[in-house]
Amino acid sequence: MASIIELKEKLNKLEKEDKKSFKIFNNIFYVSSSVGKLVIPASFKTNVREYFGERDKNGEIVESEEEVIKRLETQKIVKTFNKQTGEGALFNWLRASRPGMRVEEVENEKKRVYEYIEKSRENCDFCNPEKYTPEDVFGRVEGKHCITGGNIAKYDAWSSVIFFRIHNPLEFSLKELSDYIETGFKWFERVYQHDKEYKYPFFLWNCLDKAGASKVHGHAQILMTKEIHYAKVELLKRASENYRKNTGRDYFEDLYKAHEAIGLSLGSFFGDVHVLANLTPIKEKEIVIIARKIPSESEDVKKAIFNVLRCYIDELGVTSFNLIISCPPIPENKTSPYIVRIVDRGSIFKSTTDIGGMELYGSSVISDDPFKVIESLKEFLNP
Ligand SMILES: [Zn+2]
Repeated sequence: MASIIELKEKLNKLEKEDKKSFKIFNNIFYVSSSVGKLVIPASFKTNVREYFGERDKNGEIVESEEEVIKRLETQKIVKTFNKQTGEGALFNWLRASRPGMRVEEVENEKKRVYEYIEKSRENCDFCNPEKYTPEDVFGRVEGKHCITGGNIAKYDAWSSVIFFRIHNPLEFSLKELSDYIETGFKWFERVYQHDKEYKYPFFLWNCLDKAGASKVHGHAQILMTKEIHYAKVELLKRASENYRKNTGRDYFEDLYKAHEAIGLSLGSFFGDVHVLANLTPIKEKEIVIIARKIPSESEDVKKAIFNVLRCYIDELGVTSFNLIISCPPIPENKTSPYIVRIVDRGSIFKSTTDIGGMELYGSSVISDDPFKVIESLKEFLNP
């Protein structure tokens, strides 16, 4: 199976076989690869096998001490940088097998998370949003499977919540998820009609504590802002404008082509909705969906989002995640697409956070190989 650790070799091959794609890749990305060396003292060797030795399904270590040591003493690191947006990541496959990240824990984890969600049903205000949450000045927007309400502590002047009718945020069908998105976009329109100055929409779903949710009950957030979009949306827009100025090309089209050329995209599985495993992920398993149509009006966009989330939850054992949809202003600006980003935030039972100084101020340190993430998605879609 392809691996991020062999990205340089993959690019050398691409340069020989497909110069055009190689050029597009280099327009956007810079890749560097290096080797970090270690010396393990004899007294630590047994522990190291226990921590990092590869295990079979039953949790038995299948590698000898020497094999584990060899892998540890020479560690290959791949660094990626998006020259247009300034995003970057560091990949070391070894980190994926560091203590506490074993595959056999995934099923057990899911069971514990469901128990935790069940317990939170007692006295859940969001199970009765009409009674226990505030309203916007124009009232609520009601869908078939959700209803909106004001955010009691607003992020911005227009900052509301979509309360899902189902308490458990991990249980949703395509119908339900579609309704959440459609209701969010109806709310954007309502705000815009109410005050035309507010024309920059932003949709986000923080699922469970690790992703920043204050309540377990399924809910997404919807915001509208004025004058200038939210910082990262604005930066991305500027990067794409600069790219067009400098190359005469479409940034988002090329971003997709760069990923497609090395096998990190889903191709045309969802028509012209492009799904890719990001080469410069903000954190683990990040998927980017590039959509030229309004998500609430496109079945392909809704299906793409639904399938990525179901694969996350049902196959990869993800329980806490962030999903955002950054949107061009209303009235719709046809030149810039809707960008959906989805990222795994790790176990809610671990007290350590996944975001440290490197992620905030350096480059994101990543364990999960994007090639394995896209492979899991492909298997999920074509079992
Ligand atoms: Zn509830």
